[in-house]
Amino acid sequence: MAYIHTDQRAMPNNRKAWSSWNSSMDSKNLEKNSITYWLNLLQNLRCDENIFLTLNPYFDIDEKKILKKVKFTHPYYDQKALDAQSELNKLQNQKDLLFCGSYFGYGFHEDGIKSSIEMLKSLND
Ligand SMILES: Cc1cc2nc3c(=O)[nH]c(=O)nc-3n(C[C@H](O)[C@H](O)[C@H](O)COP(=O)(O)OP(=O)(O)OC[C@H]3O[C@@H](n4cnc5c(N)ncnc54)[C@H](O)[C@@H]3O)c2cc1C
Repeated sequence: MAYIHTDQRAMPNNRKAWSSWNSSMDSKNLEKNSITYWLNLLQNLRCDENIFLTLNPYFDIDEKKILKKVKFTHPYYDQKALDAQSELNKLQNQKDLLFCGSYFGYGFHEDGIKSSIEMLKSLND
């Protein structure tokens, strides 16, 4: 679950250590860990308030400071998905439709960009 919020307790105590990506871990239980993005720095936000995105927090986030909760899942690549992936290009230009997205690759940013470039190459104009 992703929490978009303004609770700066999710960030390092030392303000000088604040980065775009900030990991935190319970030193007594390493399985308890989460990551907080400092969106102002990461996305160059033009606002005075600090806005954070914490993934799967293992600590409490002040309810009053939560702006939004979003449920995400990363794509799962089972054998069926991998088999279908190699056939995806056959969908292009059927019924004047073109497709692109990170699901053409491993599900990361680069895969989305790569697939849009490939899609443009198959544009029937
Ligand atoms: C919290 C988080 C952190 C991430 N960090 C990284 C990272 O550090 N590095 C990295 O490489 N990748 C990262 N990713 C993955 C990256 O965000 C995705 O790879 C990328 O956004 C996928 O782009 P996309 O255009 O394929 O799909 P999306 O960005 O999911 O775009 C799909 C769009 O289609 C819209 N849509 C869906 N259904 C419909 C419909 N029926 N009609 C109309 N519109 C519809 C959606 O609203 C959405 O806007 C992260 C993802 C998350 C959630």
